[in-house]
Amino acid sequence: MLEEIITLVLNMTLRKKGLLFVVSAPSGAGKTSLLKSILDENTDLTVAVSHTSRLPREGETHGSSYYFTSRSEFTDLISKDSFLEYALVHENYYGTSKEEVQKKLAEGKHVILEIDVQGAEQIKRKFPEAVLIFIFPPSLEILKERLENRQTDSPEVIELRIKNAREELERSIDFDYLVINDNFETAKYDLQCIFRAEELAVSRNQDILDDVLSIK
Ligand code: 5GP
Repeated sequence: MLEEIITLVLNMTLRKKGLLFVVSAPSGAGKTSLLKSILDENTDLTVAVSHTSRLPREGETHGSSYYFTSRSEFTDLISKDSFLEYALVHENYYGTSKEEVQKKLAEGKHVILEIDVQGAEQIKRKFPEAVLIFIFPPSLEILKERLENRQTDSPEVIELRIKNAREELERSIDFDYLVINDNFETAKYDLQCIFRAEELAVSRNQDILDDVLSIK
């Protein structure tokens, strides 16, 4: 039921203003810093906070970084069909709750889902209008370096993330846009261009065309 309401609101808002963006990237690609910087300057955009069964990292807060839940709470939410999409990523559950997306859409903003490629594929199937953006560092070597410098994950976790990054890159072919984060400012500008271009797409502004044409 909630899913139908989201589809309805999304279809209504897609014609007007609110768009659904999916931004995927392997961890360490700089996705979160890029989006934070863009969101600080653009109040038309908002990020949906995901649920995860992974433990909080230092500095992460419940309700802002993620909704941190136990594994059993997460599987309970799955059985209640509470997620728009969910996936097992690096051996932890991550999911976008339907309620969260509905709440954000009600704010009348463009909603960004910061999710992995499995989740992106599920969203594209449910909402073909969603815009899928993939962010990648210039190389896997640089990604590894960044993860090591971050000093938040063990060498085993870093190895797992590199292996997954390679697989994710292979699956990014189905995305609409690819942004290479070699230089922060360039990648930020590229993302801003995508958000703006999608807002201006004729297919999303049919109501404006109709208004103009109705004036005699
Ligand atoms: P991290 O543990 O580094 O915060 O995130 C690990 C991966 O999980 C990232 O690729 C991130 O985009 C993905 N992720 C975060 N939230 C969600 C979600 O709600 N759904 C899915 N499918 N992936 C998510």
